[in-house]
Amino acid sequence: MPQLVNRYSKGAIEKMKKYYAESLQPTPQGAIFRARTAHAVVVTAFKSGKVMFQGNSAETEANRWGSEQIDSSKPAPKKRENSTFTPPVSLFNSNHIGSDEAGTGDYFGPITTAAAFVRSDQLELLKELGVQDSKNLSDASIRKIAMDIMHLELPYSLLILHNEKYNSLQKKGWTQGKMKAMLHHHAINNLRNKIGSTQLDGILIDQFCEPYIYKKHIATEKQELANNTFFMTKAESSSLAVAAGSIIARASFLHEMDKLSSQVGFTLPKGASKKVDVMIAKIIKANGRSVLNTCAKTHFANTKKAGQYL
Ligand code: MG
Repeated sequence: MPQLVNRYSKGAIEKMKKYYAESLQPTPQGAIFRARTAHAVVVTAFKSGKVMFQGNSAETEANRWGSEQIDSSKPAPKKRENSTFTPPVSLFNSNHIGSDEAGTGDYFGPITTAAAFVRSDQLELLKELGVQDSKNLSDASIRKIAMDIMHLELPYSLLILHNEKYNSLQKKGWTQGKMKAMLHHHAINNLRNKIGSTQLDGILIDQFCEPYIYKKHIATEKQELANNTFFMTKAESSSLAVAAGSIIARASFLHEMDKLSSQVGFTLPKGASKKVDVMIAKIIKANGRSVLNTCAKTHFANTKKAGQYL
């Protein structure tokens, strides 16, 4: 049986439903309506905007709506999908969760991810405490403000992906993007459980990849995005919840780096510069290569580059 699928605007589908009012049939799941025309064409309109025409006169029937048709041969532009992930400005002043991570570009140390829940009536207090974009804060301020946030009893969830686990996931084929997506996802879910029935107006993730890629990553672990989840780059400068999450994650990263430094016996540098390459060589000479698995992201190019200092 000939079949044709086109995509239409919401308005066009409303018009169709009125037009076919006399010939409507039971609506299948996921559909807006189904109709069977006098010429035995079955027309099914789906919530996705797709309309399927089935029957010998499918083309003639579809042509009736031709002018309203959206080209179905091309996928909808990504921008259109992404716009649904852009937070409304009102979110920043309402009860929301924000999440951010630290340590992803650092050869030494774990990835830390924190989600924080901020109520609208706490925003002023957080500003008073100096919560702001952590990129503008010194390490000392980050540690101090993180302590203040904890004393506030602001609900948060902090996850630390230690180096041994990181390296084993990486060897299993996980990209760093997938690790980050799962860390954000679990931190947010833990926090949602913590806050229980408190009103939550939305969730904002500091964007590190396209939202559809994030969704793909968590789908490989059979997870879905919670309702009202938004993505935004540099979100920590617009949302105090993301800024708080960012400060908690950074403070935790600093703390973990202190612990690792005392275990290894050297002050581990941040980042992934030449300074790091030199330090790797020192560590290998003093402790052997295997110790890197417990304190470094070993797949970084630095591991190889350190060879020249051995
Ligand atoms: Mg970030």
